[in-house]
Amino acid sequence: MPAEEFHEWLRREGRIVVVGASLAGLRAAETLRARGFAGSLTMIGDEPYPPYDRPPLSKAVLLGQAAPDRTDLPRRRAIDATWRLGVAATGLDLAGKRVRLADGEEVPYDRLLIATGVRARPWPKEEEAQLDGVFVLRTRDDAVRLHRRLKAAPRRVFVIGAGFTGSEIASACRQQGIAVTVAERADAPLVGALGGVVGAVAADLHRDNGVDLRTGVTVTGLEGDSVGRVRAAHLSDGSVVETDVVVVALGAVRNTDWLAGSGLGAGPRGVACDAGCRAFDFRGIVTDDVFVAGDVARSPHPLFGYQFLSLEHWGNAVAQAEVAAHNMISASSDRRPHMWVPAFWSSQFGVNIKSIGVPSMGTEIMITQGSLAERRFVGVYGHQGRVIAAVSFDNTRWLEFYQRLIESGSPFPVEFPTVDRRPEGRRPVPADFPDPSLPTHGPTVTLSGYSPADRRLVFTPSRPSPAPSAPHRPTDPRNPS
Ligand SMILES: Cc1cc2nc3c(=O)[nH]c(=O)nc-3n(C[C@H](O)[C@H](O)[C@H](O)COP(=O)(O)OP(=O)(O)OC[C@H]3O[C@@H](n4cnc5c(N)ncnc54)[C@H](O)[C@@H]3O)c2cc1C
Repeated sequence: MPAEEFHEWLRREGRIVVVGASLAGLRAAETLRARGFAGSLTMIGDEPYPPYDRPPLSKAVLLGQAAPDRTDLPRRRAIDATWRLGVAATGLDLAGKRVRLADGEEVPYDRLLIATGVRARPWPKEEEAQLDGVFVLRTRDDAVRLHRRLKAAPRRVFVIGAGFTGSEIASACRQQGIAVTVAERADAPLVGALGGVVGAVAADLHRDNGVDLRTGVTVTGLEGDSVGRVRAAHLSDGSVVETDVVVVALGAVRNTDWLAGSGLGAGPRGVACDAGCRAFDFRGIVTDDVFVAGDVARSPHPLFGYQFLSLEHWGNAVAQAEVAAHNMISASSDRRPHMWVPAFWSSQFGVNIKSIGVPSMGTEIMITQGSLAERRFVGVYGHQGRVIAAVSFDNTRWLEFYQRLIESGSPFPVEFPTVDRRPEGRRPVPADFPDPSLPTHGPTVTLSGYSPADRRLVFTPSRPSPAPSAPHRPTDPRNPS
């Protein structure tokens, strides 16, 4: 079937399956219908709930300002889909175009969208992770459990990791008058995401708000009492902190396990795709019927040297889902690239933090407006002589201007006049990011280019490349790809 005809047929009566029924999955489904997709749509999600919003879980929900079951995502339109909620996808037959489900069923597709996001990285010592009082925060159920425990007036909450989630949890606790200790391996909070200069401001924020902040330490173990309740955390500096609630905020793990052996280019760093959201197979060849969007995706971005970016950003999930949906039902000539400039926001200790671009690529930072001491500023990050990112503390309105500088590759250090001439401004200083080879938690943008550790292909010149391990089935004749 010629490509034009195929896409006509696909839009009329094709089968689209979306795995991951959350933000990216829902927005993709809405976009598909808005663009006239009239075929069958199946939404598969392992959580039992219709799509809900996660950012409030570490903010309004923990503060008791929003009920955890009232954070459903607003619907842009009806999507007329078959919902398979509470059942996980467990496998993908790439050649046969079928998704295997945990209940044994197989769901065939003509186009598949993978939007399975990430999950919270658990505490690595399983027995300690099982102690009563040890929590993670990713899902609605996690938030219900943690909120219930916070309401029961714990003596102290111990947060492991001072990335965005850990810091927001500490902030919510302090706002409710709960004693909090935060342990962070780096020298300050948010260092992985924003570097040491801004991290120092975040450290002051924590301490001024009464957080017992311990930096440059790791947690070596959690101790339980005789009935299996957590009672203390042991730190690498030999100190012991008594606590009855521990929140593990060590970043996220990408939900790609179900794709093992499928032949897709999927692994711990996400599912690799091109700028048009088409997944790569494990040999680096782009597929034409499997698309990826949201936190689980990693894709190259021309503004950032075509490096593969893995983003854990709400806005990225929406924008990438819209592009993926458009491309899924469009012929190649109509396809679009996902060129979203990364943007992330957080609110903690009464301060609005927003970043744009990829701060962790920055080698230098200069404060162009406001003042670090006042905790109201804009910092601009430079990489190889151009503006690569900006961060604002309580100064959001300027970020659009900096976005244009990033998009146009403006020179760094910046040289525009400003009315704001405070001593620390106008002078680039090292941005002070940790050694990228060291594990840090907290970056919400990860540069995930080629790593020799990921090598899965063995080049044997005399023999053909190994085939994917998924069983081979003839390609659907309706799909010309
Ligand atoms: C507490 C918290 C606070 C946040 N705050 C902010 C913020 O302030 N600003 C910001 O920009 N971003 C924030 N984020 C990040 C933002 O919520 C994510 O970027 C967004 O949720 C990504 O959407 P997604 O659909 O790609 O993935 P997810 O929301 O992770 O959804 C993926 C879905 O797929 C399901 N799934 C996984 N595996 C399978 C499987 N095998 N079969 C079926 N279903 C599966 C998952 O259970 C989940 O329901 C926050 C996240 C959290 C957890």
